[in-house]
Amino acid sequence: MIVMKFGGTSTQDAHAVENVVKIVKARLDRKPIVVISAIAQATNMLERAGRLAADGRTGDARSALLALFERHIAMTDALIKDQQRCQNLRKTISASLGELEEMIKGLAILRELTPRALDTIYSYGELLSSRIVAVALEENGVASRWIDTREFMVTDDRYNSASPDMELLETRLPEVIMPLIEQRTVPVTQGFIGVTRSGHRTTMGRESSDYSASVIGSVLGVEDIQIWTDVDGILTSDPTVVASPKKVKTLSFAEAFDLSYFGAKVLHPKTILPAVERNVPIHVYNSRRSELSGSLITSMNSSGTPLVKSIAYKRNMAILAVVPKHRYGQYIFWDHVYNILTKHGASASLTASSEYGLSIVLDQSHELPSIVQGLKEVGSVDLEEGKGIISMVGSNIRAVPKFMERLFRSVSEYPVAAISFGASPSSLCIVVDDHSVPGAVTSLHREFFDTVESDEFEELRHLPS
Ligand code: ADP
Ligand code: ASP
Ligand code: MG
Repeated sequence: MIVMKFGGTSTQDAHAVENVVKIVKARLDRKPIVVISAIAQATNMLERAGRLAADGRTGDARSALLALFERHIAMTDALIKDQQRCQNLRKTISASLGELEEMIKGLAILRELTPRALDTIYSYGELLSSRIVAVALEENGVASRWIDTREFMVTDDRYNSASPDMELLETRLPEVIMPLIEQRTVPVTQGFIGVTRSGHRTTMGRESSDYSASVIGSVLGVEDIQIWTDVDGILTSDPTVVASPKKVKTLSFAEAFDLSYFGAKVLHPKTILPAVERNVPIHVYNSRRSELSGSLITSMNSSGTPLVKSIAYKRNMAILAVVPKHRYGQYIFWDHVYNILTKHGASASLTASSEYGLSIVLDQSHELPSIVQGLKEVGSVDLEEGKGIISMVGSNIRAVPKFMERLFRSVSEYPVAAISFGASPSSLCIVVDDHSVPGAVTSLHREFFDTVESDEFEELRHLPS
């Protein structure tokens, strides 16, 4: 068995879905379970419609919905030639639009979009795209069954960032999936969305379909979790920032974890842990060029030689420097600081400490003023916004020849505000000004990859569009 997850660009239009059908059809002997994201931009458009409605702009909200639904209808018409199937699918799509239009009226009256309502609205993106894929498979002679994650992905009620109930999943998922696999029917389900015990839709965080795929694959103990996206695999850096990235052939779980944790969008940061727990390999493939070998993430650390494998970055970060007011025992000080962060649901992306102070790097989206207020009880606090973290990732990078010298030479034009090295054996992070991130990443990439000689990397034959 394998899990195949297709992202938004892989289902963005009829042509892309035809491609998904071909890719799945070519792998039927591996018993695929298909996990689908909303079509490209659908989640953003649904959110926009919800926010417009809550602002009382029902007309604009409706127009946003109509534009999105037209795309689904156009895909259906282009993909499904069987009249009955096409009509049924069109009916489902229209019924969903009707439900959303009712919700929009409600939001406009209440003038608020709660996290719970937002999750219900979001869920339509994945519900519809997965239906289209399931029917398109049938249309092409592949026995498939659309499954609502409601049947197995029970989560807690932390709307917008829910976590699955793993115990329930362990029993329900095989009950739902295995009979289909035995009948040689391809289950098609949704990423990103779940449901509470009381039946409310939840989502597990933006871009979390990769995580859904990993959870499903790990619980079922599949041979391979396949993430199908729009690039050739894991690249040496973000192709929207560096001009000529290379493909990384293999990564260890630890390397992939650090990369995703420090911002490489290609994998959601929660994806790696479930796979590590059950030791299930992950492949990242390009759905536009399915003949390519992709990147493989496993427990093995293939490269004996120390090597920088990839550079990730996170923008819009803030540094909070806290110096204790009194000479507390260090553990009291740290305890207080972490309690404040926990109270605000904030996790530090990175910390650097000395005896008299602690620098914490946080995402700027956290409630910084309240956090600062809380920290002022124990110390003086200095807040600097507009920062970015750049992470160099690779097992045993400390042993890369002249690593530090090359690193600092590459970023010499950019003031470095903090460094974290040692917390993870597979990464080193520096903090620079946010606006310096693209320049610094490009310069580091040039230094570590332009002339690198290692069969761990492959030149890209087609640069990502
Ligand atoms: P999907 O919709 O398939 O989930 P995403 O847009 O979430 O796709 O992730 C793929 C994108 O991640 C790529 O198009 C690329 O721009 C970006 N990306 C950032 N860093 C990397 C990296 N190191 N390797 C590959 N892609 C990366
Ligand atoms: N459709 C969801 C989002 O855009 C989930 C995903 O794409 O992984 O956030
Ligand atoms: Mg993604």
